[in-house]
Amino acid sequence: MVKLETIISLAKRRGFVFQSSEIYGGLNGFWDYGPLGVELLNNIKQSWWKAMTYRDDIVGVDASIIMHPKTWVASGHIAQFSDPMIDNKTSKARYRADNLIEEFIRKLNNKHKFDLAKEIEEKLNKCQENNDYFKIIIDYQIPDPVSGSTDWTEVRNFNLMFKTFVGPVEDESGTVFLRPESAQGIFVNFKNVMDASRMKPPFGIAQIGKAFRNEINTKNFLFRTREFEQMEMQYFVKPGSEKDWFEYWKEQRWNWYIEMGMQPEKLRWKPHEKLAHYANNAIDIEFEFPFGFGEIEGIHSRTNFDLTNHQSHSGKKMEYVDTVNQERYVPYVIETSGGVSRAFMAFLCNAYDEEKIIDEGKEDTRVVLRFDAKLAPITLAVFPLVNKDGMPEYAHQIYKDMQKYFRVQYDTAGAIGRRYRRQDEIGTPFCLTVDGQTLIDHTVTIRERDSMLQDRINVSKIRDYIDRRI
Ligand code: ATP
Repeated sequence: MVKLETIISLAKRRGFVFQSSEIYGGLNGFWDYGPLGVELLNNIKQSWWKAMTYRDDIVGVDASIIMHPKTWVASGHIAQFSDPMIDNKTSKARYRADNLIEEFIRKLNNKHKFDLAKEIEEKLNKCQENNDYFKIIIDYQIPDPVSGSTDWTEVRNFNLMFKTFVGPVEDESGTVFLRPESAQGIFVNFKNVMDASRMKPPFGIAQIGKAFRNEINTKNFLFRTREFEQMEMQYFVKPGSEKDWFEYWKEQRWNWYIEMGMQPEKLRWKPHEKLAHYANNAIDIEFEFPFGFGEIEGIHSRTNFDLTNHQSHSGKKMEYVDTVNQERYVPYVIETSGGVSRAFMAFLCNAYDEEKIIDEGKEDTRVVLRFDAKLAPITLAVFPLVNKDGMPEYAHQIYKDMQKYFRVQYDTAGAIGRRYRRQDEIGTPFCLTVDGQTLIDHTVTIRERDSMLQDRINVSKIRDYIDRRI
């Protein structure tokens, strides 16, 4: 298993991810995507968008981040969107109480104290109130991972929504929130979309967009950040049919990760033992990160909780009226809710590989990101074998031609083996070399990243060759 530090350092060195405002010492929980990162991020989003909306029954929206404050009263976020927070009196470190307990359980498991770990886990799953978490922490003398101290404050609620103000006066009347999930932008537009695009249940609305949560602890690189992107889809169905659609969407979403190159053994299902206030069924897809399994996407059966609440808070009907069958109902909702940045990190970890090879007679290690060709930031790299005899000009022309169709890099620096390695390390699936023979018969070699095998093809066939493999 690759170490998280290795991924973070590769991500920085090769321009996938930088710490936000790094020159000022960075800001905890915020990250910037560099030139290769933004390509990977866009490819993930585009593949998701294609899978979710290039079909008859789903349309997209792009709602605003700041919404009417009543939205968050109706959705339950004002009252309920909080995490249990605890402070250690000695170190002054602050934790999410449930995460603190989970971390302790993980450590017990690592020490093979399975019975104790299981006992605490069962109690954790039953926690309802702050005091339940507190009791576990005190009963099991869970220490602060920083100082080892067991001197804790009470557990309190901490609302995760970022507050800001609309207009010049910073008072209650202008208070708004940065959305903590993109879903509500879909719910409040349910009627608009249904009427404007003449959709009827079962149908879905998809959206990709930023969400913000003032997480108590940010950690594990992109896993838990304070600003992130979500790719969410709400599927509106007739009450009573939600169980079938829940199963349908489970399968669809799992398969998407596999199609995008995720190794099935790195994924697992995690049913929710504790359901959120709005849900009657929920399951997560988890990925095995270097620090253990963690959620990358949730599939939630949200009942008609959101639509009925928006209906009662806004006074606007959120019904579907079926004139043919003479019935009206507030649809039930199956939601698929994934994090773009968590998927990004999962795809990065999933792709990372180190392979022993013999290079110029010496044993060496090749670092390869085995991205699916659809996700790779750069699809094709073009090299002249040597920087003379008309090869650079020929290669540069191919580079320019292929740029119309793919993200291409042109590289003339160093030995050809070095250039292959640079591309392997960023996951480029195809490297094309112009050599002496190219000038004679207009053929080039294309080397495939994983097998390192080479094909010789005519220049007129390059686009077709790559298209077929993507
Ligand atoms: P967690 O329990 O890890 O806090 P959650 O259950 O609150 O997550 P959801 O509200 O279901 O998460 O959000 C849907 C998806 O959004 C998650 O599967 C995850 O991919 C992503 N996500 C949620 N919070 C964060 C965050 N702080 N940083 C990055 N991605 C996030």
